[in-house]
Amino acid sequence: MQQKEMSEEEYLKQHLAALENTKTAPEPTVKVEVETSNIENLKYFSFDVREFPCAHFYPPGTTIQIRAAEVREIQAYSMVDDTNYYDMVEKMNEMLAACVRVKYPDGRVAPYTELKDPDRFWAIFSIRELTFQQGNNLTTTAKCTCGQDVQIELKRENFRNYEIDEKLKKFYNPTLSCFTFDTSLGSVYHLAPPSIGLQRAFTEYIVKENAEKRKPNLSFLKIVPFLLHDRTSISFDGIKAKVDEFSKMNNSSFQFLNSAVNKLTFGIQKAVKVCSCGEEVHSDKIFPNGASAIFVIHDAFERYIKE
Ligand SMILES: [Zn+2]
Repeated sequence: MQQKEMSEEEYLKQHLAALENTKTAPEPTVKVEVETSNIENLKYFSFDVREFPCAHFYPPGTTIQIRAAEVREIQAYSMVDDTNYYDMVEKMNEMLAACVRVKYPDGRVAPYTELKDPDRFWAIFSIRELTFQQGNNLTTTAKCTCGQDVQIELKRENFRNYEIDEKLKKFYNPTLSCFTFDTSLGSVYHLAPPSIGLQRAFTEYIVKENAEKRKPNLSFLKIVPFLLHDRTSISFDGIKAKVDEFSKMNNSSFQFLNSAVNKLTFGIQKAVKVCSCGEEVHSDKIFPNGASAIFVIHDAFERYIKE
């Protein structure tokens, strides 16, 4: 699949489309068993959260601890079905669960579910860079205005992230690491991109509602995770209660929140490179060969065969 601007709405639409295509609920994912003794021997590297796309939405001083993927984790990931967005997200979650943890300034270490959802791809590329330190470049091709096809290596230093919308900057709340909007409608809202754990709970809810032939209220289900940005999980009943609560909201409030959430696009926007002619070229296709290609050496046969 190709990476596009991944708004929550598209994210949900793609989940549903993927489910329509397969006509069945997704297979339960295979959990990768990792012995504790091994985990202690694995080296985690500390990444400053400021280089992540959602840097502003973690407490200052947070670091993201990441290690290289092990062979069995790569094997499990390589089974990803590139045509199924739900499967891609699940396989990425398994990889993140194994290789990523969040360390807060107070020393607390949390699992990957506390990563912000739009940081998912950045974290995956970080694991990739630690895993394949000798070569194995992954590239995307972009056409320059001079006519040249330019190969852009897909790695963090070539990525550009979405920036905070100009109109939103003054509403950033450094104390709560979110946006605080005081509206003329009488309500104050705190919004930020949701964590992976929370977004996952909403996705599972939507999948379940759909499977049971109820029509989930997608417009609310898109907004609510942004209002619960400081949570890392929620039960199905909790989601139902929230949806009920928000469904009673008046139209102006709904319109406001919908419009605000549409401005909260974060994550990797594009890969860039300067062409030999001096022009900067860019591509938004950060998965040109599908999500599976991230941990698969595409020319492994040619590379390792003895001629
Ligand atoms: Zn050029």
